[in-house]
Amino acid sequence: MNTIGVVGAGRMGSGIAQVMAQAGYDVILFDISNETLQRALENIKRHLQRAIELGTIKKEQLRNILTKIHPTTKLKHFMTADIVFEAVIEDLDVKRKIFQELDDRCAPTTILATNTSSLSVTKIASATENPYRVIGTHFFNPPYVLKLVEVVKTQNTSDEVVGKTVKFLKDIGHSPVVVKDSPGFIVNRISRHFYLEPLRAYEIGLADIEEIDQAFKLLGLELGPFEVIDYVGLDVNYVVSKSIYERFNYEERFRPVTFQAWLVEAGLLGRKTNSGFYNYVGKDKKVQDFLKREKIKYKFSKKFLNLADTICKKILSRKDELNETQKVVLALTIAMIVNEGFYALMEDLASKDDINLAFRLVRFPAGPFEFAEQIGLRNILNFLNLAQVELMSGRYKPALLLARKSE
Ligand code: NAD
Repeated sequence: MNTIGVVGAGRMGSGIAQVMAQAGYDVILFDISNETLQRALENIKRHLQRAIELGTIKKEQLRNILTKIHPTTKLKHFMTADIVFEAVIEDLDVKRKIFQELDDRCAPTTILATNTSSLSVTKIASATENPYRVIGTHFFNPPYVLKLVEVVKTQNTSDEVVGKTVKFLKDIGHSPVVVKDSPGFIVNRISRHFYLEPLRAYEIGLADIEEIDQAFKLLGLELGPFEVIDYVGLDVNYVVSKSIYERFNYEERFRPVTFQAWLVEAGLLGRKTNSGFYNYVGKDKKVQDFLKREKIKYKFSKKFLNLADTICKKILSRKDELNETQKVVLALTIAMIVNEGFYALMEDLASKDDINLAFRLVRFPAGPFEFAEQIGLRNILNFLNLAQVELMSGRYKPALLLARKSE
């Protein structure tokens, strides 16, 4: 690879361009307006200056990196690119039109990669006459910090294109994991339960926002689930949940909570509006209890509580700092993450190792199968089976593979 194309100079496109230029490649960066391109170059410069302060690059490198990025508003310049990363807005029609155009203009050997988070790569590829060269490369934000890239192959992507893309990403110091084209790929799908279980626990009055966030921090996470949702935006988080739910044919375990839609409609989007699950006006953030619901004292069976306690004991060193409901919410969330890992394995979505690696690279303390090993499959199976009865919900139905493996 010599020349890299990047289409879309927003948050992700400019980040990907920076990564490629830092790795020594010439980058052609396309967007629809010169103003956007100018803004992107300024942002890249700012990030590089920060990298100098942090000591990750040398001062002398800055100019050289910046001169490697060639902004353009004309797609015809992509003729010379060996691989093109598309990172325009998340709109299927817009992406299909761009891929059709790239397919017409680029050399037959050019790899065409999309950064989509939630759309079908297969549908994007079907706009081209050569779907064998279309692949997903799902970078994480910001791409110059987070090394994970989900490399998404469709039924039509050629093995050669998968191999070349993986090798290229490894060469520039990123960590690719290969995944089949499917809703949410690995991370957005399996980690859905990190959001959905806490949201449901709050919705049904089982636990409150702060105690849930606190429980997850004991697991070694920097932020609890409600803090993360505030950070990424309640709207963005909701759209992803809704899209995965719809694309899985309304599978109960992916059903988003309704109250999140009301909060989004009311413009309570998290940090960007200073108001979400917490209020950010003033020095210290304050929790906002929208549902103003009395906590309900659920009377769970002894067996269920003992299993929640056992699960927490296996994954935490300080589980005694948790109260009963915190243990239940944490155990439900981790059990569902493990369960989703097994559903994914049944679909041959990705390898066990790649699924674990992807989780670690987005800074989870362990991957689903590592949690499974720590806890024991029999404990998870029994807990999920009891959860279906105790919480009267079919969403806890264990994956067949999990049940079989625990025998
Ligand atoms: P963004 O809104 O910051 O940038 C989108 C860019 O696309 C804008 O600069 C816009 O001018 C440009 N654009 C719009 N229409 C275009 C067209 N027809 N041709 C060329 N450029 C066009 O969005 P983003 O956050 O950078 O997201 C881009 C893609 O990356 C999306 O597919 C998104 O799902 C995916 N993604 C985003 C994140 C994230 O955290 N933001 C993470 C992973 C993947």
